[in-house]
Parts: sequence; structure tokens; C-alpha cells
Amino acid sequence: MNDASFMRWICDACGYIYDEAKGDPDSGLAPGTRYADIPKDWECPLCGMKKSDLRLLPEAKPAVASRPAASAAGKSALCKGGDEYVVIVGAGIAGWSVAEAIRRREPTRPVLLVSACPGLVYPKPAISMALAMNKKPEDLVDTDAAGKAAELNIEVRTDTRIVKLDTRRRRLTTVRGGIQYGKLVLALGAHQRVLPLDGDAADDVARVNDLGSYKQFRAKLTPEVKHITILGAGLIGCEFADDMTSAGFQVTVVDPADRPLQSLVPRAVSAELVSRLAHKGVDWRLGSTMLSLAKATKGYKAVLDDGCSVQTDIVLSAAGLIPNTQLAAKAGLAIDAGVAVDNTMRTSAEHVYAVGDCASLAGQVFAYIEPIRRQAEAIAADIAGARERFMPLPPLVKVKTPTMPISVCKPSGAVADDDWVAIEENGDSLHFEIAGPDTIAGFALAGDVASQAGGHYRRLGGQTQAA
Ligand code: FE
Repeated sequence: MNDASFMRWICDACGYIYDEAKGDPDSGLAPGTRYADIPKDWECPLCGMKKSDLRLLPEAKPAVASRPAASAAGKSALCKGGDEYVVIVGAGIAGWSVAEAIRRREPTRPVLLVSACPGLVYPKPAISMALAMNKKPEDLVDTDAAGKAAELNIEVRTDTRIVKLDTRRRRLTTVRGGIQYGKLVLALGAHQRVLPLDGDAADDVARVNDLGSYKQFRAKLTPEVKHITILGAGLIGCEFADDMTSAGFQVTVVDPADRPLQSLVPRAVSAELVSRLAHKGVDWRLGSTMLSLAKATKGYKAVLDDGCSVQTDIVLSAAGLIPNTQLAAKAGLAIDAGVAVDNTMRTSAEHVYAVGDCASLAGQVFAYIEPIRRQAEAIAADIAGARERFMPLPPLVKVKTPTMPISVCKPSGAVADDDWVAIEENGDSLHFEIAGPDTIAGFALAGDVASQAGGHYRRLGGQTQAA
């Protein structure tokens, strides 16, 4: 339980929360260290943003006497919702962010959060940095679902999978009985794309998209495991490659693209990342596709489309995310890239919202922390009758590769490499911009200048605020 006088600050780029009560002991900040006393050169331990880029977290208002917090967790298993309830489906960052946003506006509105998973609260971006930080999966957990629900004075049902949504009757069918809603928020998340693969070990490919699957993956990292193959050189693939080489594993990265982070950064940034990670030992197999994975005497034998084979102990797929839309599609909601929403995050069904990795606005999914939090605010506002629209600004993306930190803010849609203009380009600092009509339309910062992203993002009108 936090001391009421301590405050919490959030890094919008990665979701890290600096809690004054807990400090940041890994960086030498003892519990109780006030934000004001953090040295200026401190950086977010997850993504490297500056102290001044943290934003003071508005705390949830205290529970009112008529809905005592103590009863929330205890009654949770029985809560069947009701017409007065906001029911949130999903306990990822998006689901919990909506619960927090509703509580800030409406201390007494009945809220029920339902999750198929155990609902643990943790900063998901930390997963791809856990090995290098020497953290076990359980070390990443801030609090459990019951604790968070009690803190927010909401009700929660974990390990409860939804099997059907009936928007006409405003009813959810779950594996544990029905739930009635007044307003419904779908925070269904996304799942890892499954690449077609031949061979008797195709099903052994690991996929990590939450703490539960990460825990399973870590359990596979026995002392015999020396070599890991990562499928995908996007953001998650590159972060894992850096993390795993830092932890002493040999890593091969396979991707059909000819460079990592192809859709995100200028070619020169990709090239520098390739070079630095190769120096750390990463074996890049770019322009390649894995065709098959077969069990071998020890580990696996993977065959690539260039005819090469790779002897490996584990294959981890990081080939991109696909929004979870099945429940919504079956209920007849409009789907495009995800569950289609408007600027208020309303779906095509009355009283139903969607948020986070499962939602798409004008065909675009906003799968990063900062826009998800603004989406959550828009939903809480709309439910409270206040209508604050979600502005689909290009998100600030931090690629958490400590070997070469990268911050990028790219306009939506494809960007030609020629559109990136080099402002600074030397071995330690890479700074590229995309010109816009008034100011810049995007930027990419890598190396020593990556921590300056907050200032550039504000030039674009982004939400990161100097404290
Ligand atoms: Fe951060």
C-alpha cells in the first residue's frame, strides 16, 4: 500500500511507473526518494526516457463508504454485473488503464473487470528486457488483480473466459455464467502471428505476448540452452535479440525483410543496429524465411529458404501481432484492422467500446502505451458524458535495445526511405526527420540522442509532458 503522501510518475513511452515509495533501487534511488530529488541524468530503467519526460500520475480517488474496498475483491468471484455496470473485458495495460481512467472521473460507478488470465498487473514492455535486468517473470509483477481491484474499488473476475457477446441483450456468456453490462469495454489485446512452418517441431515454436507465455518461455531456458533463434526482426524481435545476447545466449535472427525495423526506422538506423548487435554476437539471417523446424538429437534443426540450416535450442517467434477480434466479429461488430472504433472509441455496437491492441481507428491499430492511455481517457470521458475524443497522433515508440537505444515517431502509413532527412549522422548519434507542412511529421533518434525524444515529440504535439 502506498503512503498517501508519496506520488507516482509514469513514463508514457513504456508504462514504467516511478513510485516515490519504492524508488528505483537498481539505479541507486532508495525507497522514499522524491521525484524532485531524482538526479537530472537519471533515465527510465525500461526505455531510457529522461526524468523530465515522466508525467505525474493522477491517483484514483478514494473509495466511498457505500462501496467499501474490502468487499470488492471478496465479492468479485460472484459479480454478475448489471445494467449499471461498466464491464471491461481484458486485464492488460488497456483494460486496467480504462478502469483507472473511469475511477478518476467517477469514484462510485460500478466497474467489473473480467479476464481470461490471472490479471496480474505488470509493465509489459519490461518483458523484453527482463533477462538483462536479471529479473524473473514474477519480479515484474506490480500487484495482483485483487490488489489492483481493491485499490481502484472495482470488482474483478479472473480466469473467466468470455465465449459470447450478445449486444442486443447487453450480455456476456462466460465459462462461469452470464454477465450483464450497461457499457462494455473490449480490451481483448492481440496474439502473435503464427508463421507457416514444416517439420515435426513446428509446434514447439515459442510465442511471448504476455507474462504467462513469458513465464513458460523462461521455464524452457534450462542450463543446456545456449542458442536461441528469433523469427522476426521487428521491434519485439530486436529487443529480445539484444536482451538474450546480454544474458549470454547465442542468438540468430531470421526475417524475410532485408533489414531490421524495416517499417519503423530509416535504413541507416537499421544498419547501425545490425552492426552493433552483430558485434555483440547476433547472427543476422536477413532476407531469409524459416521453412522447417525438426527435432534433432540435441535441440532443433531449422532449415531456411536459402538452403542454410541452423542448429538451435529454442525458436521464439516475434512475427507481429494480430488483434483479437473473434469475440467481436461473432457478435456482428464492424471489424477492419481490428475492432473498428470512432474517435470516442465506440464500436459499431451501441454501448460497446474497444481499446488498445484489439481496436482500430480508420484502419490503424495503436498498440503502444501512450496512445492506449489516451484511448482509455476518451472512453472514461464518453461514459461520463464528457466526450473527449481520442486524437490519433503518431505514437512515440521506444525500441528498448540498450545496445543502441532508438526513439521513433513515424507518421501512419508507409514512409519511403528518401523521406527521412539526416540531421545528424555519426557512429554514436543518428537523427533523422520527416518534414511536415508546419513542423516535422516524424523523427528517428538512435544512439546517444535517443533520450532527447520527449522534446521532439512535443514539437509534433505529442502528449509527453515536461514535469
Ligand atoms: Fe520508459
